[in-house]
Amino acid sequence: MSKFIFVAGGVMSGIGKGVATSSIGRILISRGYNVTAIKIDPYINVDAGTMNPVEHGEVFVTEDGLECDQDVGNYERFLDKNIYSINYMTTGRVYESVIHRERNLGYGGRQVTVVPDIPEEVIRRISKVSRQTKADFVMVEIGGTVGEYENLLFLEAARMMYLRRPKDVLFILVSYLPVPKMIGEMKTKPTQHAVRSLNSAGIQPHIILARSEYALDEPRKKKVSIYCNIAPNDVISAPDVESIYEVPLNFEKENLGKRILAKFEMRGKGKNLEAWEKLVNTIQTSENPVKLGIVGKYFESGAFTLSDSYISVIEALKHACWFHKRKPEISWLNSDHYEKFPESLSELKDFDGIIVPGGFGSRGVEGKIMAAGFCRSNNIPYLGLCYGMQIATIEFARTVCKLDGANTSEIDKKTPHPVIDVMPEQKTNIQKKDYGASMRLGAYNCLVKRGSVAHRAYSKGDFEKEKEKNGDLIISERHRHRYELNNNYRESLEKEGLLMSGINPERNLVEIIELPNHKFFVGTQFHPEFKSRPLRPHPLFVEFIRAAIS
Ligand code: GLN
Repeated sequence: MSKFIFVAGGVMSGIGKGVATSSIGRILISRGYNVTAIKIDPYINVDAGTMNPVEHGEVFVTEDGLECDQDVGNYERFLDKNIYSINYMTTGRVYESVIHRERNLGYGGRQVTVVPDIPEEVIRRISKVSRQTKADFVMVEIGGTVGEYENLLFLEAARMMYLRRPKDVLFILVSYLPVPKMIGEMKTKPTQHAVRSLNSAGIQPHIILARSEYALDEPRKKKVSIYCNIAPNDVISAPDVESIYEVPLNFEKENLGKRILAKFEMRGKGKNLEAWEKLVNTIQTSENPVKLGIVGKYFESGAFTLSDSYISVIEALKHACWFHKRKPEISWLNSDHYEKFPESLSELKDFDGIIVPGGFGSRGVEGKIMAAGFCRSNNIPYLGLCYGMQIATIEFARTVCKLDGANTSEIDKKTPHPVIDVMPEQKTNIQKKDYGASMRLGAYNCLVKRGSVAHRAYSKGDFEKEKEKNGDLIISERHRHRYELNNNYRESLEKEGLLMSGINPERNLVEIIELPNHKFFVGTQFHPEFKSRPLRPHPLFVEFIRAAIS
């Protein structure tokens, strides 16, 4: 039977609850336990697929095609395992199943009420994860902040679970301790209020992770201890760090692993964080920079929001740079700007490599096409992810194949050359405005042709693959798109030298394009960034950085 660790947030959002949850998971894994993590998002949306990434952050995609919160990406990266859709719920999802069950007479004709039926459904979902994963520890991160109306029913579920199985449930509050400039002192009061708020939901935290700009000093630890009714040892200092990957090590310096096991009266096994320590050491000691530019349609939003919208791409780039013992230096390049000032394209020459990540819609797209063309003709390493692959195809069609006006039908429905086009079933989705969870989502196979750059990349490292008799590789990657390279144009593109090095064998769809006589020019219809892990960087990113630094 699993142990359950609920993680809730106090004072404000955005203080690293997801990283804290993931880091606790990593600590427990390092002690030989099987750990999984659940994310609860209190919003009504059934998934994160319809949300604007600039507002909400990246939409992460799981193997089984769920579009979810970016925290799930953190779980996968820290736990180094796949997380599936059962590990995710939103208010919308929970209500949807309760209503569905009621319509199917699943409640035997009785009245169905918010309490206890909603928390019971939450518990049912959490228990299902425990049964299916057989995890020793199920981490449950409750989104939002305590005291909000929105996550009350999830806290209620946690309280009910504790009532039923007090020995198997632990509560951790990740709270924020501000250091206001005009006072110059770390304040504990907001955290005291957060604990009171949690108390009024019937929950007393067992452990408090004290997030702050600085480490917690002894007087502050004592204060939190007394006012929040918790032993001083259970107040864990969690200061800001340069890299999120330092967090598990910092937690261990405060004996968090031991404290958690002690609460569950578990003796624990030996701890092994060696690989993680090595990683952190590389992060801290890699000095030689790799200059990378991400070309996108950015606007007023600052770099902070942007880095959230592309978190998996950024992490994948970092993992690959660290693999080469280099320091990633990432810049945001605005594609709108290239449309207005084409001469500014020459700035791309200052970079070791250029990435055009996933995207939707028409704004800034011509600028991206120009950037892809500039990289192609100036031998600058280029990695196109999903939209970035489609864009490189359009540029090649227009410039090299002389297919004037070539485009994706996403942008120009009347283009004479729809080199990127929708699949028939997607046409119906668009017509019916059936946008939720209706893209090509999740893992699909890809046959990688022998002799290609992609093949060379995937052959190395421990990325999961199968070898065909003729030497081709079968790999699997995650998708999130509606449009595809149009097979009617394959021959024209190939004739001019665009290599289709990856093909989905089941539906004969182009998955990878590349230019053989280029330093590195690769585009993928899938999103390799979702499968990159700090301890197992993604092979395509590793190969891209290899070219960038050579
Ligand atoms: N807009 C493109 C499509 O839907 C690309 C999507 C993406 O980059 N994730 O096919």
